[in-house]
Amino acid sequence: MFLKGKSALVTGSTSGIGLAYARALAAEGARLVINGFGEADAIDALVVELARISGAHAIHVDADLTRREGVEALMAGAADAFGRVDILINNAGMQHVAAVEEFPVDKWDAIIALNLTAAFDAARLAVPRMRAKGWGRIISTASAHSLVASPFKSAYVAAKHGVAGFTKSIALELAGSGVTANCISPGYVWTPLVENQIPDTMKARGLTREQVVNDVLLAKQPTKAFVQPAQVAALALFLCRDEAAQVTGANLSMDGGWTAE
Ligand code: NAD
Repeated sequence: MFLKGKSALVTGSTSGIGLAYARALAAEGARLVINGFGEADAIDALVVELARISGAHAIHVDADLTRREGVEALMAGAADAFGRVDILINNAGMQHVAAVEEFPVDKWDAIIALNLTAAFDAARLAVPRMRAKGWGRIISTASAHSLVASPFKSAYVAAKHGVAGFTKSIALELAGSGVTANCISPGYVWTPLVENQIPDTMKARGLTREQVVNDVLLAKQPTKAFVQPAQVAALALFLCRDEAAQVTGANLSMDGGWTAE
């Protein structure tokens, strides 16, 4: 359990990839702050599960990270519970699929706020204690869409390219401090975020559900398979190891070959 005594915060960890990160970090003994929406009973059960796996404390902080005050409340909750955040995983994200001339402006604002600005606010608030301790890990779930684009996803592609650039910039600022900053860029991972965009993609492109899965989603991935959340989490765990101390400013793809083309 190489993360015993470390505190980890994963945004958007009640579902999908974030939940896989939380389980993987807990399995290595980390104290966990989880965040995200869901049924209260299910979240309570998750907190109990994480504490049991890690043998350490776990809490959930209910905060809407599209709002700056939400991120500030989350970071304050983590500081109150554990004193500091050693591992910050910026993962909460949302998607909306629409042509640019029809893109709802409130969706644009929410996607930029959650996928990009929340990562800035969380890092800004976590860095002072990481620097003081001389150790920290900032990991952001970017996306293949941080490297290449798809049509009808202008806000998401803009936000994810932003996360990749932000990560490179802070990695340079933090170089030599013991704190690393990296992105993980998955291709399509079968989670509610992907499932929920299928109806809008059917509408935007005039396709059936099966065509969206095979001709839009998996068409991007030469391996013709979805990435698994646990595979993404295993890469994050590696980034937390001392062996990864020199991996910083990287944007690590796990996309079945998508961005190799
Ligand atoms: P998901 O929908 O399963 O999980 C999203 C999580 O974020 C949930 O816990 C949800 O409650 C939380 N969340 C949503 N809005 C929030 C808000 N306003 N404030 C706080 N929390 C909020 O999605 P996922 O597929 O696991 O996505 C996780 C991350 O991975 C996202 O950043 C996404 O862009 C990225 N990603 C996903 C894929 C994919 O194919 N699924 C691919 C590349 C990148």
